[in-house]
Amino acid sequence: MQTTEFIWFDGKLVPWDQAQVHVMTHSLHYGCAVFEGIRAYKTADGGSAVFRLKEHVARLFNSAKIMEMEIPFSEEDVCNGILETLKVNKLDEGYIRPLSFIGAGAMGVHPSTNPIQTIIAVWPWGAYLGAEALEQGIRVKTSTFTRLHVNVMMTKAKTSGNYANSILAKREAVADGYDEALMLDTEGYVSEATGENIFLVRNGVIKTPPLTSVLDGLTRNSLITLARGLGYEVVEQRFTRDELYSADEAFFCGTAAEVTPIREVDRRVIGAGHAGEVTKHLQKEYFKLVRGENPEYAHWLDAYSL
Ligand code: PMP
Repeated sequence: MQTTEFIWFDGKLVPWDQAQVHVMTHSLHYGCAVFEGIRAYKTADGGSAVFRLKEHVARLFNSAKIMEMEIPFSEEDVCNGILETLKVNKLDEGYIRPLSFIGAGAMGVHPSTNPIQTIIAVWPWGAYLGAEALEQGIRVKTSTFTRLHVNVMMTKAKTSGNYANSILAKREAVADGYDEALMLDTEGYVSEATGENIFLVRNGVIKTPPLTSVLDGLTRNSLITLARGLGYEVVEQRFTRDELYSADEAFFCGTAAEVTPIREVDRRVIGAGHAGEVTKHLQKEYFKLVRGENPEYAHWLDAYSL
């Protein structure tokens, strides 16, 4: 990865290499940390903007609340910290990773006195699944791993521990020659990918699974609003993998993955085998929106300049 100069660590800017923790850090042992993935883009006016900053930070605090971790900063502190970290690193476009974790102290699964520590790192990060994926689409395989049931791990919390499940699924998919894993919920319905929400398009209607077992993705939320604004019908409804096989189009979305077309699922070619018309339209409009080229959604951008 391409590093930057400073990391915000509990309110202070420290050089990247010195942002260290003890090996007895609690979260390292038990996987209980909460984090966000946010993107900043260069905007049409020559500046930059963070996309849906407040909503991401609100989700971070909700994740912490779900996990019963008290972050000793306000949401405003973290928003300001993010803008400060971008500016001090002179990063006009890239990825932002706030993370709150349980520090060293007591061991065992009841860390009532350990400190809750927070970092914000930023770095340049291009297309998560590759530039070609954004154009051509990706090949996907249904995972042998099931997405988390809400009584096993809470999927509304962006908790580090949830990503052990994602890593297992992603490793399996890549080892089998695919780009990404499609994960089903405990009842066998399509839920999400290892770090993306999913949409399909069938007979002109756009469909995405309801929030029951999936992360409440901000890209998902933005695309639903954007698509409805463009006149598309969007429904949040469970669907099975055979419905996906016979969809006209399908795509994954997420902060990192942006809008990535799916061209194949379990050896079945989706639609024409490349990005469909609706997918291309939404992808184009999404990139316009995050780059400040759509004034209707200017309220989703927090502008900054270097
Ligand atoms: N689902 C999972 C499991 C994820 O990790 C992500 C990425 N945060 C998403 C969906 C998409 O969420 P967002 O659009 O907010 O990045």
